[in-house]
Amino acid sequence: MLEKLKEEVYKANMNLVKHGLVIFTWGNVSGIDREKGLVVIKPSGVDYDVMKPEDMVVVDLQGNVVEGNLKPSSDTPTHLAIYRAWPEVGGVVHTHSTFATGWSQAGLDIPNIGTTHADYFHEAIPCTADMTEEEVKGAYELETGNVIIKRFEGMNPMHTPGVLVKNHGPFAWGKDPHDAVHNAVVMEQVAKMASIAFAANPNLTMNPLLVEKHFNRKHGPNAYYGQK
Ligand code: 13P
Repeated sequence: MLEKLKEEVYKANMNLVKHGLVIFTWGNVSGIDREKGLVVIKPSGVDYDVMKPEDMVVVDLQGNVVEGNLKPSSDTPTHLAIYRAWPEVGGVVHTHSTFATGWSQAGLDIPNIGTTHADYFHEAIPCTADMTEEEVKGAYELETGNVIIKRFEGMNPMHTPGVLVKNHGPFAWGKDPHDAVHNAVVMEQVAKMASIAFAANPNLTMNPLLVEKHFNRKHGPNAYYGQK
């Protein structure tokens, strides 16, 4: 079942290793088949070097395992909350990549201070609020999804495809698992660049015209970046 999507999700997970975003069993990627309403996700706590495409777990949007011998990622309810809230999302990624997690632990949004950021994320990459006792002691992973969705009220999640969960780490998403991993890799680079920039000049400024120019030349109605 969903063999192509399993292969795609497996490769996307392995690309987290290739790009240096995860070590040990950290992180997870999923992808959705919107027609079937089924999600394929990494199994929980399995080392990347022994993981196989057939280990991927198929779940429905309520989290019931539809196929697979292994337990799905512990973060499955967070991924599912994102898929349920935002129909344009086709892939979701979570990592503990160093610089993005550093900003999560600092509890700060990553401001849009350069064209690298603006090429992919229209606004600051937001950091979520503190989770309450009820959220942490209750359905924690589902509530993590809920705080993400709440933080995006009034924002377009496809224009700013990533978030920092406070004291935890980054989640990113995209039109498919590959695109979501691409955005997670960019988020880590943007977090690194922002760390260096603010260390060098805590009073730095960004020209807002450059944000609009760079975001719109790739994603605006008259986008012209790349080949036809
Ligand atoms: P899983 O192996 O359960 O996906 O957990 C990895 C992780 O990073 C938890 O936050």
